[in-house]
Amino acid sequence: MNPNLDCQPVHQWALHHLSNADLHCHSRVSDGTLQPEELAARAKANGVELWALTDHDEVGGQQRALEAAQALGLAYLTGVEISVSFAGRVVHIVGLGFDHHNEALIQGLRATRGGREPRAREMAAGLAAVGIPGAFEGALQYVGNPELISRTHFARFLVEAGHCSDISEVFRRFLTEGKPGYVEHRWAGLGDAVRWLREAGGMAVIAHPARYGFTPTEEYALFTEFIAHGGRGVEVVTGSHTAAEAAKYTETALEFGLLASRGSDFHSPDESRIDLGRLDALSGRLQPIWLELADRVHPPQ
Ligand code: AMP
Ligand code: MN
Ligand code: MN
Ligand code: MN
Repeated sequence: MNPNLDCQPVHQWALHHLSNADLHCHSRVSDGTLQPEELAARAKANGVELWALTDHDEVGGQQRALEAAQALGLAYLTGVEISVSFAGRVVHIVGLGFDHHNEALIQGLRATRGGREPRAREMAAGLAAVGIPGAFEGALQYVGNPELISRTHFARFLVEAGHCSDISEVFRRFLTEGKPGYVEHRWAGLGDAVRWLREAGGMAVIAHPARYGFTPTEEYALFTEFIAHGGRGVEVVTGSHTAAEAAKYTETALEFGLLASRGSDFHSPDESRIDLGRLDALSGRLQPIWLELADRVHPPQ
């Protein structure tokens, strides 16, 4: 039996009356600092009514997150955040409500993760060349799963070793395009990521669109190609958007007929600007994505 389809659909009434959905955050399974169980407890304590853990390129924390949510009486949607290369940039696609045992999705994510270690070694070489030795080993100290070594882990090391005073300074000086620790990488294709999610029974969502720095033409291409591949949603209210950006992408969602998602993108109590569940509401003009995912929600037990 498909283990993701054996749950009772949440009553539509309950979903219609739900306001605090938080469908984007990270655990130690990728680049967060808390365990899935700690995040579930924090979400519950902060009043989240529907939660999804969306680790980067990995669904290995899903069963733990689901069980922890159920033990707390918290409704749960499976989640993931897939790194995709598009128009020379990295775009993040959040997946929601898929079967986390789907083999093709698991294999696709494994292939996406595959290049991270050699990339991290190249990043460390770039940093060593500007007088910061030992960054690969240093970053590894913060990594839960070495396959998922990311820029975030390097940033934590550089702060801890006293090279920068905070994470955003590290990104600004060392880890963004043109800076010594930045290494371009070929991630998944947009069409592949959307297909893996759809074929696993879930929906694809463009994560934090304001973060990419696309021109209007590039952004139009991203949204039209995403929809052509069968993508359904866009994050409007996220910890990565200002209120003005949320207002802008409210209009974009309506213009493109996309469902709206909401998520803090919480990584760590010490680093994240917005805590789990502490987000503005979606505009009442938008169609929340969770209403369309009713039969994929694991209801509170
Ligand atoms: P990677 O997948 O290794 O390229 O790392 C990307 C991760 O770095 C994102 O998921 C964020 O958690 C983090 N990140 C990217 N840009 C910034 C930034 N400007 N400040 C803080 N964290 C960032
Ligand atoms: Mn991250
Ligand atoms: Mn992201
Ligand atoms: Mn994220």
